[in-house]
Amino acid sequence: MKRRIFAGNWKMHLGPDDARQFLKTFLGRYRHESGREVWLFPSAVALEATACATRDRPDVVVGAQNVHWEDHGAYTGELSVPMARAAGARAALVGHSERRHLFGETDQDVARKIRSLLRHQLTPLLCVGEKLDERAQGLTLQVVERQLGALAGLDAASLARIPIAYEPVWAIGTGKNATPRDAALVHAAIRSWLAARGVPARACVVLYGGSVKPDNVKSLISEPEIDGVLVGGASVDPASWAEMVQARPD
Ligand code: PEP
Repeated sequence: MKRRIFAGNWKMHLGPDDARQFLKTFLGRYRHESGREVWLFPSAVALEATACATRDRPDVVVGAQNVHWEDHGAYTGELSVPMARAAGARAALVGHSERRHLFGETDQDVARKIRSLLRHQLTPLLCVGEKLDERAQGLTLQVVERQLGALAGLDAASLARIPIAYEPVWAIGTGKNATPRDAALVHAAIRSWLAARGVPARACVVLYGGSVKPDNVKSLISEPEIDGVLVGGASVDPASWAEMVQARPD
């Protein structure tokens, strides 16, 4: 059975009380199905509330939106992996385009964060994707392969544990999603990059992200290359999120 992940990135929305309220509504409407996982990425301050409210739901994975690669130190405003883990995180986003392009996160930073997460047994969810000008210049696959370089040197078993989200930057928060076919071409390239490093195709989980909404989620997950979705804006409404995570492919 295909492993499907529906991940919600709450960005800088929903504090602890909002998170508890969200989960009350969402969990009341979401029935788990085998092979389907829901991953939630709340703000750092809502991690613990989200983890507590989902404690008896192993199918719901809670993760941090960002971590630092050092375990502790003079890094004002940062969150270390052990701290995220103590608050209940089992995963973290790395390389999200807002971190890369608004906060200057480099491929080297992404690589360090991945290694810290793996060292502490948390799962990185690696985001990759090209900007509009890079797409216009035909550089999509080159950019994505460069970003995958953050995984270089990891063994096949570690690589197989890391879901990858292809999120074209021009589609994030813009209402313009890539077509299932556009996404499929990049997903296939990600799968072959992993296959060249010993990861069998069935072990890779490749998600699509960028303006996924209740009205397009079904067509996206019906594309065989798309194993799930990473959703920003449309993941903060518990009723529509419950609808999205229960979408069935054609
Ligand atoms: C995201 O933040 O990862 C994202 C895909 O955002 P949106 O769904 O709002 O485009």
